Amino acid sequence: MEKQPLILDGNRVADRIKERLKTRIGRLAERGIVPCLATILVGDHPSSATYVKMKGNACRRLGMESTAVHLPQSTATEELIAKIRELNENPQVHGILLQHPVPPQIDERAAFDAIDIGKDVDGVTTLGFARNAFGFAHYPSCTPAAILAMLDDYRIPIEGRHAVVVGRSPILGKPVSAMLLNRNATVTVCHSRTTGLADLVRLADIVVAAVGKPKFVQGEWIKPGAVVMDAGYNEGNVGDVDYEACARNASAITPVPGGVGPVTIATLLKHTVEAAERAVSAD
Ligand code: NAP
Repeated sequence: MEKQPLILDGNRVADRIKERLKTRIGRLAERGIVPCLATILVGDHPSSATYVKMKGNACRRLGMESTAVHLPQSTATEELIAKIRELNENPQVHGILLQHPVPPQIDERAAFDAIDIGKDVDGVTTLGFARNAFGFAHYPSCTPAAILAMLDDYRIPIEGRHAVVVGRSPILGKPVSAMLLNRNATVTVCHSRTTGLADLVRLADIVVAAVGKPKFVQGEWIKPGAVVMDAGYNEGNVGDVDYEACARNASAITPVPGGVGPVTIATLLKHTVEAAERAVSAD
């Protein structure tokens, strides 16, 4: 009989993170503080609208506040930055999340960098990214942090192992590579110009898929016993790895849905609570 891999249950990990947050939210409430996440959605990208809604709902379910800013598709960079500055100045807002991607006329880097570092709960500013790369960020990007939280929760060793990350985006592939490196993994980062991708993935003890292409990572690329972390989320609830085929070789694998996604949201809530705690202690 075929050996089944361990299925890394993101809902379980997320529930544990949220359970631990309840006490901290209660302590803040005693001081009249409700942690508040502001989400900004520009345009009408359907899946982005869903993500933003899910994040707002998750805040409210845990007794946190969420304020949703929805700007039209035609928004200019300056208009978006003006809105971000308003949220920076608002003491009731502790975290700011600008949903990626933004419409093409917007300078996304300038918009991300307009977020106050104290409210950069998704590690998207240049300074937040750099601090993460140096290993002392308050708030690393949420999806990379979620991937590490899952490995840690399941006590999957990182040090000394070869991690192959497929994707190098500033919100996912690059920061997760830096975080794995900081935890003493040996890291190979692959991208669209990588040659011999399948052979590189075959060397991995830990594979992180962050490509944005459904079922991209093939089962025969997975070394027997490797751990497969699928950060992808594509239409039809499909990840970036071919789950059934990869599961045949993997020792552990994240499903989609129910893997990295729920832990990403729980991490965002955690960072927002931490930002509220820091704002209180700075008063
Ligand atoms: P992205 O910005 O589009 O980046 C995709 C990366 O994949 C790029 O670095 C690109 O390389 C690389 N790539 C594309 N085609 C490739 C190929 N044929 N071979 C090797 N590499 C290739 O995407 P992203 O924002 O990082 O998101 C990646 C995935 O994660 C998506 O499925 C997204 O929905 C998901 N996501 C999930 C969460 C969550 O909470 N679970 C959060 C954020 C994103 P180049 O740099 O060379 O173009």
